[in-house]
Amino acid sequence: MFLNVHELERQAIEFEETLPPGKIDFGNDVIQTEPLEIRGSAELLASAIRLRGLLRTTVEISCARCLEPSRRDIEKEFDLFYNPVATIAKEEVVSVSKEELEIGFYHGDGLLLEEVIKEQVLLDLPMKGICREDCSGLCPSCGQNLNLAACGCKASLGDPSWAPLAKWKD
Ligand SMILES: [Zn+2]
Ligand SMILES: [Zn+2]
Repeated sequence: MFLNVHELERQAIEFEETLPPGKIDFGNDVIQTEPLEIRGSAELLASAIRLRGLLRTTVEISCARCLEPSRRDIEKEFDLFYNPVATIAKEEVVSVSKEELEIGFYHGDGLLLEEVIKEQVLLDLPMKGICREDCSGLCPSCGQNLNLAACGCKASLGDPSWAPLAKWKD
């Protein structure tokens, strides 16, 4: 659905859609497994498009440790502002506090709702998603999935190698 600024000049646009898996391409690492429900509204404030609504779906991503598919339910409210990329003049940009809102830009006549939704879903996924907090991952020596079975390698190889990663997460 294309949100056209000229249409928005006349009236706000309400949307309510259910997108089946495959409608939006999330790339190779994210697989949408349930319909993606979106509903909300778009309105024009000065020259900025404000998008508010709710999205809900389920995706599958590979666990960063054990590489097994891991299921994630996503339910997210959004309140977004998009300024036209051409008008950078300060007085034209709707000023809002950074904490409350995320601000983006649109080119030309408006923006594609699906692009916004795709971005919001991807933003909701962790950079390194894991299937569960205590996932044991793969043995660094033999590649065995340690959630499923222990391997014969030295146990000392396991934990310390993940310590730097754990620090990164914080
Ligand atoms: Zn895992
Ligand atoms: Zn091993």
